[in-house]
Amino acid sequence: MGLNVIMMGPPGAGKGTQADRFARERGLPKISTGDILREGIKEQNPVALEAKKLMDRGELVDDATIIAIVRDRLARSDTRPGFVLDGFPRTVDQAVALDALMKERAQGPLVVIDVVVPEQELVRRLDGRRICDKCGTNAEPGKSECSKCGGALVVRADDDGQVVLERLKVYERATKPVLDYYRGRPTFRIVNGAQSQERVAHELDTVIDDAAAASAGATAPAGVPSQKAART
Ligand code: AMP
Repeated sequence: MGLNVIMMGPPGAGKGTQADRFARERGLPKISTGDILREGIKEQNPVALEAKKLMDRGELVDDATIIAIVRDRLARSDTRPGFVLDGFPRTVDQAVALDALMKERAQGPLVVIDVVVPEQELVRRLDGRRICDKCGTNAEPGKSECSKCGGALVVRADDDGQVVLERLKVYERATKPVLDYYRGRPTFRIVNGAQSQERVAHELDTVIDDAAAASAGATAPAGVPSQKAART
């Protein structure tokens, strides 16, 4: 059965890095709406260039544009075994649209992870963040070039002072309600992002497998009790 994961959390929570790792290890495509937009900007795609104005200010791109991007991406065959979404959904309308897309697909549970990190720590992390100019991968601490492709490391345009604060504010206003939208589901899990990458990775693996198993148990044929579903 497929496994679909949404990695939620504020900018700087480390969800991109964790989404990358998890997707690679499980052989699932990682779908980052931010990466798709940045890619489009490099290719001078008119929709992405329009979106850039909002991205540079730390604001959200409109729902219709983002939902169309995700719909197209999820239609590709590599998502058949599942996917890891990073940076989507960021509004309740996007979450509702994703639910509709999931109904059409009917492939595996939708596990929602909230990576939680205190705000002070987020600002500290975002201040020093670098990404690869060539492939967009987050730089590893202390490295002077990209560990994936050797490309040059640059500060993301939207990681500068005021823009960082604006992105955190937008997260509070628009994206926190998305967590409330998902919170009541048996496949919603919280992970402590204020620990070493290895510990976060371990916690993530455990809770995602647990949530997927709980969901499988919840849909098991009548008469087959689910221990895990009963515990959550
Ligand atoms: P990210 O790399 O996920 O932090 O995204 C960078 C920027 O792209 C965000 O600050 C937004 O301007 C835009 N963006 C990415 N994903 C979304 C989304 N799901 N909804 C609206 N805007 C988005």
